[in-house]
Amino acid sequence: MFRTRQTAARPSRGFASELEAAALNNQCSNALGLTRPVIDPAALNLHTTASGGLARSLCLLARSAWIEAARPRSLPRSRQDESEVTCRLARAWRPGGFGSRAAAGSVQHYPMLVLETALEHILAVVPPPEAERVLVKNAHRRILASDAIAALDLPAFDNSSMDGYAVRSADLAGAGAESPVALEITGAVAAGCAFAGEIQRGQCVRVLTGSPVPPGADAVVMQENTRLAAGDRECVLFLTAAEPGENVRQRGEDIRAGTRVLAAGHEVGAGTLGVLAALGFREVAVARRPRVALLATGSELREAGEVLSPGQIYESNRAALAALLVEAGAVVRVWPLVPDTVEATRAALEKGFIDCDVVVTSGGVSVGEFDFVRAAFEDMGGRLEFWKVAIKPGKPFVFGCWEEKLLFGLPGNPVSALVTGMLLVRPAVRRWQGARALGLPVHPGILAETVVNHGDRRHFMRVRLDEAGQVYSAGAQASHRLSPMVTANALLDVPPDTTWTAGTPVHVLQWRD
Ligand code: AMP
Ligand code: MG
Repeated sequence: MFRTRQTAARPSRGFASELEAAALNNQCSNALGLTRPVIDPAALNLHTTASGGLARSLCLLARSAWIEAARPRSLPRSRQDESEVTCRLARAWRPGGFGSRAAAGSVQHYPMLVLETALEHILAVVPPPEAERVLVKNAHRRILASDAIAALDLPAFDNSSMDGYAVRSADLAGAGAESPVALEITGAVAAGCAFAGEIQRGQCVRVLTGSPVPPGADAVVMQENTRLAAGDRECVLFLTAAEPGENVRQRGEDIRAGTRVLAAGHEVGAGTLGVLAALGFREVAVARRPRVALLATGSELREAGEVLSPGQIYESNRAALAALLVEAGAVVRVWPLVPDTVEATRAALEKGFIDCDVVVTSGGVSVGEFDFVRAAFEDMGGRLEFWKVAIKPGKPFVFGCWEEKLLFGLPGNPVSALVTGMLLVRPAVRRWQGARALGLPVHPGILAETVVNHGDRRHFMRVRLDEAGQVYSAGAQASHRLSPMVTANALLDVPPDTTWTAGTPVHVLQWRD
């Protein structure tokens, strides 16, 4: 059985006073540009008590209220509306409430976002993809930036699917092993050649797999169903009849000229490359890959090969995250280690944003005295979008924008960094390229052992989905325990306060190990 550490039950945070509720409600309305309070205080209080989080309740209720107020009754609520409101709210949220600019570094009022809300928020600010042209041979794993339209039919001409003889099927009516029919061989067409002329009654043409079927012929009889006439090299005996179209691959039966074979957003794999090449494409338009600066913060970190002094450790997040990001399609630039000072962190962030489209940091996003990523980012004029996500591992997670560029501040614990990288950074990198599939692929499985989450956050447990569909714990579930990541190939999303017994059907998020 594998379980999360039990956290002490926290009292639900309701309002200190009616006044506080009204004030927050007003700030919330202002942040959304509305003239009157959007939330019914009674509903808010109720919701807050039920869900155990003031900030979360405000976000959820304000979101619904704003959407209700802003859209005509007749229109359905769209995801676009929802993410817009979530973004506005999170942007406006500062310590002290919506819209106020209290000192950064204070922790009390940052809303802990639901994972899906955080992700929507991120995806809503990812800029649209930019196209660039690459040779088809270099397009593997790239995301198409425009549709691919076939300029020709595939096959381009009727051709034989067998080594044999092209015939007029009518000539072989009644042919059989006991009653062979003889036809005159009037020529041969090798693959890559064409037959000049037309087959007449009583004639056949020798063809090989891929040879164009000569005009006049409507079928191919495979060689195994024929016999050469003894002593007559000009004739062949047919031991079977032939249906019209038999063993003929029809022009355009695979792809018709003018059809859209691939849609923008398609990820180019081996099969796609074959299709593009067969259709004669030399180049394709693909989305530019985002350049990602990968920083690790922490004065305790050392590079491989260095001798460790007491208290120091080898840095490991950049290697793991680089692999994850490269697989998601990013061009990764690994930065030198960043010591824990505001100045060094700010300098590294600034350089990262100048050189790259996205900066991913690890460490320094929690509440300790040496956690400087948020402060340094805000110091350089970055816009903090949100800071906490209600998942385990990975609660402290910074997301911000600097002009059009994005900051992902991942927690330093190696497993937290990887899990948040998979759940929140990978989809953004994929959206940046216009990919359709953003998240890790979901696979069904059956729990091989009981799973317990006593915590108050969703726990993304590291598990292994085996070939038989059984799901096992990958080992210890603490966020500093890296070794289970060797066994793990999937995450299991276990809700708070949940016990799932062995045999429960589940879905896991799988990554390529
Ligand atoms: P932090 O998020 O900076 O508080 O770090 C949390 C834990 O993760 C600490 O034990 C750090 O030493 C460790 N840690 C932070 N960054 C890295 C890294 N890049 N590689 C390995 N361990 C790290
Ligand atoms: Mg640190």
